[in-house]
Amino acid sequence: METKVVKQVQKRLVLVPFPFQGHMTPMFQLGTALQQKGLSVTIAHTRYNAPDPSLYPHLHFQPLTDNLTSNETPTNIGFFNFFKKINKNCESEMREFLVQKIQQEQEACGHVVGIIYDTLMYFAEAVADDLKIPSMVIRTSFATYVLATLSMSRLHAEGYLPLQDSMLEEQVPELYPLRFKDLPFTGEGIEESLALYAITCNLRSSSGIIWNAIDFLENLSLPKLQQHYKVPFFTVGPLHKISLMSSSTSLLEEDKTCMTWLDKQATNTVIYVSLGSLASINAEELAETAWGLANSGQPFLWVIRPGSVIGSEWIELLPEGYIENTGERCHIVKWAPQKLVLAHSAVGGFWSHCGWNSTLESICEGKPMICRPFYVDQKVISRYLSYVWKIGLELEWRLDRKNIESVIRRLFGDKEGDEMRGRATEIKEKIESCMSAGGSSSDSLNNLVEFFL
Ligand code: UDP
Repeated sequence: METKVVKQVQKRLVLVPFPFQGHMTPMFQLGTALQQKGLSVTIAHTRYNAPDPSLYPHLHFQPLTDNLTSNETPTNIGFFNFFKKINKNCESEMREFLVQKIQQEQEACGHVVGIIYDTLMYFAEAVADDLKIPSMVIRTSFATYVLATLSMSRLHAEGYLPLQDSMLEEQVPELYPLRFKDLPFTGEGIEESLALYAITCNLRSSSGIIWNAIDFLENLSLPKLQQHYKVPFFTVGPLHKISLMSSSTSLLEEDKTCMTWLDKQATNTVIYVSLGSLASINAEELAETAWGLANSGQPFLWVIRPGSVIGSEWIELLPEGYIENTGERCHIVKWAPQKLVLAHSAVGGFWSHCGWNSTLESICEGKPMICRPFYVDQKVISRYLSYVWKIGLELEWRLDRKNIESVIRRLFGDKEGDEMRGRATEIKEKIESCMSAGGSSSDSLNNLVEFFL
């Protein structure tokens, strides 16, 4: 008797992350979540900041030649040039890879069902279009920030840009509660910001938008965005909780010694300080931060990323004798296992640059924040943390030691601090219900999987 061999049909998605820490992490988390739902996932990545495939055995990897020399870093050539170069240089190899992959999959009775690309990797859409593969964009940041970027060219045309000092505290028309000083700029000139937003806000032929967002947190902005972009939305955040990914996506080595140090601290006493993977500060800000932290009386865990203090390799510019004088109350590392740190009961607050991943990681652990935003989405997020959700205190760009000390004391003080912690816990619980069966994020992920199947 003849036995019939039924081959399982492989449905493959190709994901194209932008090679920055804050963009790669949510893409890997999404890839893991989709793989856990039964799809095969290939990550097509640049050689710049290439991931180590051995850490993610559940995913497949395809390197793309980005043709960047070792000197062509975002710091050396500027973010905008870097971003344009990557998009130009990766396109042909992506096309070759996909043509081959489609053929291979067909021979194995499989199917490339779609491409999900970071909005900064827009070249992927042209390739998908040519090969008639459905494509979808993912916005890894705060959706309200995207809404703000949509308004930037209008504000420019209406004469509001460049910003006037006298206007900074005023509300931006049609963008309540943002003030002019909260508007997103990239850190380069206005022209570069506007050019970047013109590219990233353009949906092209994307069949939908995936957001690392949670419906209730952005219940005013998402409907406005939906009016603008008339395609399905998949609000699948917070991706770091949705994906159950055990391996770390850190590009730098995590120093786990801080976990033992945290174990020795009392509940809700430690201030955790980190400015993410890109922001840098000058020597003066380093010194003011150092004294503000020391004078606050709280124990603190401080991430000083090598190269993040302008003019020094690491901590050489700290005041003389600082580490000896602060003693056991201070623990400094180059890079921390941040999600574990924020989940630790000793941590009572997070001093952050308000990157979206850091913010989500903090909110999901019910930790209030001190907001020290730099650029792009961070000022918009900071405004929401402090004014809308009321779980953050703005440093208001007065970065002197007295102000820093007083903000930390408020965060850990009985009344204000406890109230913020209470609100942060409420938000954390609401997010948990969005992730459970029938919740908005869980449903969105299932809809996304169905969409591609
Ligand atoms: N991060 C980390 N260890 C650190 C500092 C940051 O693992 O010491 C991670 C953090 O958990 C987050 C990411 O780096 O996932 C930073 O992303 P975010 O969007 O907050 O900021 P960006 O680095 O893009 O400015």
